[in-house]
Amino acid sequence: MNWKENLALWERLATHRGFALVSDFDGTLSPIVNDPESAKPDARIQALLGELRDHVLAVVILSGRAVEDVSERVGVPGLIFIGNHGFERLQDGKIIIPDQAKPYQKAVKKAAKKIRRNLLPGMRLENKGITLSVHYRQAEDEEAVREDFLPRIRSWSDKYGLVLFQGRKVFELRPPVDVDKGTAFIQFVKDFKVQAAVYLGDDTTDASVLKAAKKLRETGVCEAYGIGVHSPDTPMEIHLHEDYYVDGVDGVGDFLSALVDACKTSST
Ligand SMILES: [Mg+2]
Repeated sequence: MNWKENLALWERLATHRGFALVSDFDGTLSPIVNDPESAKPDARIQALLGELRDHVLAVVILSGRAVEDVSERVGVPGLIFIGNHGFERLQDGKIIIPDQAKPYQKAVKKAAKKIRRNLLPGMRLENKGITLSVHYRQAEDEEAVREDFLPRIRSWSDKYGLVLFQGRKVFELRPPVDVDKGTAFIQFVKDFKVQAAVYLGDDTTDASVLKAAKKLRETGVCEAYGIGVHSPDTPMEIHLHEDYYVDGVDGVGDFLSALVDACKTSST
């Protein structure tokens, strides 16, 4: 359902004292670009995040990127950053890695070395310490590169005891522990005693949060809703698990604007 069909819900949530807005970054706050290094939110989104931060319990960015990277890109102070699919949280100026992931730091290092020596043209390795991303968006023939590389990265993933994930034009290797964006979302809701929340996301890895939101809502822990951010290549998992949707990054801006308006109206 389009978010605009239930404006009363967003007004009620935004003005709830225990409300947190949680959002993915790439493809949600910032348009998908060929070079992930140039991704940035536009000035309107930045201003809205800053305004919302002043009215609600928390504004959280939950991203696949490293927290240092994503916090710099967002460029708005006072937000909370959970990065690397929940594998790191920026807390009191320090980066915290979940205990269950720590034994895999060595294996990740070895896999990074292997991948670096075998990258195909147009591929780029992003080493995030406890996880690895291999981007192939800039390859000439993305599908050919994906097919060529998949069996190799799968064998290294097995060899070093890691788990392989595939996202939009990216392979990811992570430790085989029960940490994902969904578990990070649930942990955050519990740690910060969040009573109402909205999550915005566009990619396969965001489906775990959409499912977590539904679970929190149905068990009465937190009134959380998952919003899918639609584009021409929205994965099926998003369609399946979203409660509502917005159209693209511009739609996210309109949604944030509605939240800010609701907060301002109620505080005057
Ligand atoms: Mg995304």
